[in-house]
Amino acid sequence: MKKHIFNAGPCKLPRIVLENTSKAILDLEKCGLSIMEVSHRSKEFQAVIDEAMDLFKELLNIPDNYSVLFLGGGASTQFCMIPYNLLNKKAAYINTGAWSTKAIKEAKLFGEVDVIASSEDKGFTYVPKEYNIPADADYLHITSNNTIKGTELKYDIDCNIPLIADMSSDIMSRPVDVSKYDIIYGGCQKNIGPAGVTFVVIKDGILGKVDRAIPTMLNYETHIKKGSMFNTPPCSAIFTVKETLKWIKSLGGVKEMEKRAIEKSDMIYNAIDNSKMFVGTVAKEDRSRMNICFVLKDEYKEKEADFLKFTAERNIVGIKGHRSVGGFRASNYNACEMEDVEALVKAMKDFEVKYA
Ligand SMILES: *Cc1c(COP(=O)(O)O)cnc(C)c1O
Repeated sequence: MKKHIFNAGPCKLPRIVLENTSKAILDLEKCGLSIMEVSHRSKEFQAVIDEAMDLFKELLNIPDNYSVLFLGGGASTQFCMIPYNLLNKKAAYINTGAWSTKAIKEAKLFGEVDVIASSEDKGFTYVPKEYNIPADADYLHITSNNTIKGTELKYDIDCNIPLIADMSSDIMSRPVDVSKYDIIYGGCQKNIGPAGVTFVVIKDGILGKVDRAIPTMLNYETHIKKGSMFNTPPCSAIFTVKETLKWIKSLGGVKEMEKRAIEKSDMIYNAIDNSKMFVGTVAKEDRSRMNICFVLKDEYKEKEADFLKFTAERNIVGIKGHRSVGGFRASNYNACEMEDVEALVKAMKDFEVKYA
């Protein structure tokens, strides 16, 4: 039975990507070895990682003076690698949720952290827009999409110091002006692949400015020099990322992903806004196209478990809100289809007919 998958991560992947991955698990490009068996030094795997990097650059229109890395350790390891490599004295952070908070915690191990804006005062339900970026900070770190609370910065900000963005959960969902950033990073498992691989887009010439010694594996220089193959990379995860990027390209690239994200998220937000029972949880202008959070109005609160059961019977999975938030969260990543969204919206309407 086909499931309508709204999981926040690991995400739903396109069917064709799963099919091509399963073929490569049995036999990579008819070389007689599985993607899980092939040497990462083989020409077959080199072709896979080269294609993944080239597609990444092409889809995001990345200028020539940037490298694309595929690393292990998750976006969470980047929370420490960034300050390890770049924080000399002071860094600026904008705190828009649980992931930014974790990034800030790591940065504090390496120097002064100036949290120049935070939406914590209102439970991270909006994206702060008023702040001064200190000219003497080594960089500004932002989280473009807040996966847990469902807010998103849907445009590229101007910044007079190096800008670093955690784009784990909205990468490849809209065109990005990469030239405005020094680093863009994220876990691939939210929007472009399976768990186990992290992407890092890093500008040339930004390293080597801190005084501390950096462990080899945590030094970006190591991975840039070795083309992400200093050690064994997560080969099969990279293969699936490559297939996902091919799929995005075949549909028309990130511009098309953005169009679809807008259409699908509008449909769910309209259903929420026109509902007697459900209500959104964040400022409308900052609503995420990727993670759509909503709750039952107070008078219907005790129906939460009923709605989860009602949707589960319709093969809708992954809409339980994050354990720290409650309510519901529908993750509308690239592979989420219009028919998934239609099934969810219909369930919301039918539920209302039954209970409101
Ligand atoms: C999921 C997520 C992370 C953590 O990613 P891991 O790969 O699990 O370490 C970091 N930032 C954001 C915005 C996320 O959504």
